[in-house]
Amino acid sequence: MIVAIDGPAGSGKSTIAGLVANRFGMAKLDTGAMYRAVALAALERGVALDDADGLAGLAHEVEITFAPDEAGALHIRLDGRDVSREIRTPRVDAAVSLVAAVPGVREGLVVQQRRFAETCDVVAEGRDIGTVVFPEAEVKVFLTADPAERARRRVLQRHGGIMPADESAFDAEVAETLAGIQERDRIDSSRDVAPLAAAPDAVRIDSSATTVEGVLDKIAALVDAYRKEAR
Ligand code: C5P
Repeated sequence: MIVAIDGPAGSGKSTIAGLVANRFGMAKLDTGAMYRAVALAALERGVALDDADGLAGLAHEVEITFAPDEAGALHIRLDGRDVSREIRTPRVDAAVSLVAAVPGVREGLVVQQRRFAETCDVVAEGRDIGTVVFPEAEVKVFLTADPAERARRRVLQRHGGIMPADESAFDAEVAETLAGIQERDRIDSSRDVAPLAAAPDAVRIDSSATTVEGVLDKIAALVDAYRKEAR
């Protein structure tokens, strides 16, 4: 069984996908982390962000794997090296959408994503999961949220979930993050290949209007309904 969760940057896909995976004993696949790993490899190896052939070559050449730590948190490895931290830096944030717009990069990663789902039930999250990677997914969700709220959550997450004392510095960080998120959404939605889009049969959920538990319950109900029907 495949649960596809797509949506723009910072809509809470990763958190929700992890919770759905835990609840149903499925594997979580963070496809954004894979594009981030290729972007990191490009930056580290000096492959120019407009070198489509070089980037596509990288995507086919690198080995991307996921492994849980002792606490069960998933870590991503690039050719065996744990890069979970490195892929979340501002320089990767700024580069990743350009890398992900290259058709050859997407081809390379989609093959790996489909292979991941061959042997287990998967909750996959990204931008094109329900439309391109797994159009046959049994449950499809398009998770959205108000952009300002998405930026606020991202910054709060960066501060360990605690509101910093300096409110104006916090607001400035939110504004900067919002600009970055909007630029990434613009590139992701307007690219020629596999743009960020809701599949026609996806259920839309607005996470700014619902708690995390509320979103989880809605998706769990969709999974339960599918399973009941399949029995
Ligand atoms: O999900 P996350 O924000 O980590 O994704 C980082 C970037 O990877 C996105 O902005 C997008 O450019 C790219 N991406 C993609 N297709 C996916 C997942 C992510 O193009 N399925």
